[in-house]
Amino acid sequence: MIQEGQKKYRATQLYIWMYEKKATDFDEMTDISKTFREVLKEKYCLSIPVIDKKQVSSDGTIKLLLKLEDNSKVETVLMRYNYGYSACVSSQVGCNMGCSFCASGLLGKKRNLLPEEIVGQVLVLNNLLQEEGKGQHITHVVVMGTGEPFDNYDNVMDFIRIINNQKGLSIGARHITVSTCGIPDKIIKYAGEGLQTNLAISLHAPNNEIRNSLMKVNKAFPVEQVIEAVKQYEEIAGRRVTYEYLLIDGINDSKENAEELINLIKDTKGYVNLIPYNETNILPYKRPSGNRIHNFLDYLTKGGVTATIRKEFGSDIDAACGQLRAKERDNEERGEN
Ligand code: SAH
Repeated sequence: MIQEGQKKYRATQLYIWMYEKKATDFDEMTDISKTFREVLKEKYCLSIPVIDKKQVSSDGTIKLLLKLEDNSKVETVLMRYNYGYSACVSSQVGCNMGCSFCASGLLGKKRNLLPEEIVGQVLVLNNLLQEEGKGQHITHVVVMGTGEPFDNYDNVMDFIRIINNQKGLSIGARHITVSTCGIPDKIIKYAGEGLQTNLAISLHAPNNEIRNSLMKVNKAFPVEQVIEAVKQYEEIAGRRVTYEYLLIDGINDSKENAEELINLIKDTKGYVNLIPYNETNILPYKRPSGNRIHNFLDYLTKGGVTATIRKEFGSDIDAACGQLRAKERDNEERGEN
């Protein structure tokens, strides 16, 4: 919300009304003049996204399909860790990156999400947690839902500053992670934002040949350019990145691939988060066997790379990125909704 010509304290008042008192109508804001309330009413609205579909997993993970003002739909996920509650938010309606393994990209990008629409996803999850009682709220945020955050850079940065603001949701910067498919100039720009937030790089392949076959973006920005940008990020931001590496059966999960990966990232400080591929019935890729996954981890560890296997959430619901929305679209096209 940008309103020029107003006193600075107005912003504080608005933050308090929106995030502390959870006002749903500008007329509740009694310490704001009626004239200014009318201006606000004309230009802005206080609505948050509406829950269109809700799936609850046996492990407590909640996946929501949310409907926005223009009827666009986005996915948001709540994950429960022993250290807190994490929201996985979408940054765009659809995605243009076209990764061949990802259900979100199948539909293409419809539009960027506005900062308030990304904040709205966190607010909806906070409301659900509140309903559960015990005063819980979202403590961690990962921008890893549908969309490429660095293809919606400014709005995502505004989103981060709003949820990080002590008068907003006060989510600690170190509890916020942005995940990118690897756009070098934006990685470097992000490094200079002066934020203490985290960065995850969707690497997924140890060389250009495999990465080109999985991620269209690699044709524009080959993997060496991504690694070079990571090195600059480490210098400027003084922080380490996490490399996300999907393990897909027979594609990128061999011993040789592990060795190439070790070599590729050896001059950076990043660590590797292995993600066993989440199978979907719309794409042909398969998850490797448990043995292959553990062997891959072993090769990396023995090669001196810090690596972990990602904890899995909501495997009994449509957990993989974009599946819920893709399925919904399928149904709509078949007239089942
Ligand atoms: N565009 C950003 C963020 C959204 S994707 C990015 O590329 O990082 C979030 C993560 O989910 C990415 O690492 C993506 O590669 C991964 N992902 C997509 N489809 C998946 C699937 N079927 N199984 C497991 N991870 C998947």
